[in-house]
Amino acid sequence: MTAAAPAASPAPPQVLLAHHLRQLKLPTFLREYEKVAAEAAREGLDHVRFLLRLAELELIDRERRMVERRIRAAHFSAVKSFDTFDFTAIPSLNKPLTLELARCEYLIARDNVIALGNSGTGKTHACLALGLAACQRGFPVFFTAAGLVHQLMEARDERRLLKLQAQLAAVKLLIVDELGYVPLSQTGAELLFEIFSQRHERGSTIVTSNLPFEEWTSVFGNQRLTGALLDRLTHHVHILELNGESYRLKQSKARRRRDPRPPDEVAAAADPETGEIIRAS
Ligand code: ADP
Ligand code: MG
Repeated sequence: MTAAAPAASPAPPQVLLAHHLRQLKLPTFLREYEKVAAEAAREGLDHVRFLLRLAELELIDRERRMVERRIRAAHFSAVKSFDTFDFTAIPSLNKPLTLELARCEYLIARDNVIALGNSGTGKTHACLALGLAACQRGFPVFFTAAGLVHQLMEARDERRLLKLQAQLAAVKLLIVDELGYVPLSQTGAELLFEIFSQRHERGSTIVTSNLPFEEWTSVFGNQRLTGALLDRLTHHVHILELNGESYRLKQSKARRRRDPRPPDEVAAAADPETGEIIRAS
């Protein structure tokens, strides 16, 4: 007769607990429970308050993780907020309206926002900040600049246009930055028009442009299409006007005042967007 194999000793409860918490996707519970248990013992908290504290930590962390996920999914060109935006630098911008928009109620009303103004006045900064505010309040956002038209054309050629259109229609906020720098082909204009049409009254769109409305025909190349597009975009719209001196130019002038070396002693580079000379030092 062979001797019975010794019974496997059960896994210690910590190991099982860690496994279950991972399965339940409660990483903060897992990371914090020993520390919170020690605190609870010190403070004489009962088991309900101990669990409550852990649950609160998990909720706070989960919210933070979701905001981070939304920010990644938005594909922002940079993460910027109104905390670093100097409203005094751009008096043409309606500050109360901008801060009201940052509260995101326009997203519930499915209103659009159009930011117009010359180059370097903070249009991209402002729309990134509105996008960030939307992510922080739980709205899915997608940010795109001139590349959107290219993406749409590529998707059409690869027969996945419907999928991309569905994705763009599904986000609560679509940001199309810098419309107007490059004129669109007829197909490009039609594809972009379709996106705006599909989103009309279903979700909010933010558009920024260096061109006043009268000149949008030069981008879309077709008066009828431009009229129909403006009709949809401006149906429920908040307009932000950012006209003034370029913030970049102002900053580089201030830097030059602080550094009076002749220009050939200072490495200089041209801003690709505005052509203005930026000092590298
Ligand atoms: P635009 O999109 O209108 O060309 P940007 O938003 O790209 O301008 O602004 C150019 C640079 O200047 C960016 O780095 C931006 O963060 C900064 N900037 C512009 N306006 C302001 C402002 N009022 N306060 C702080 N930074 C600003
Ligand atoms: Mg810009």
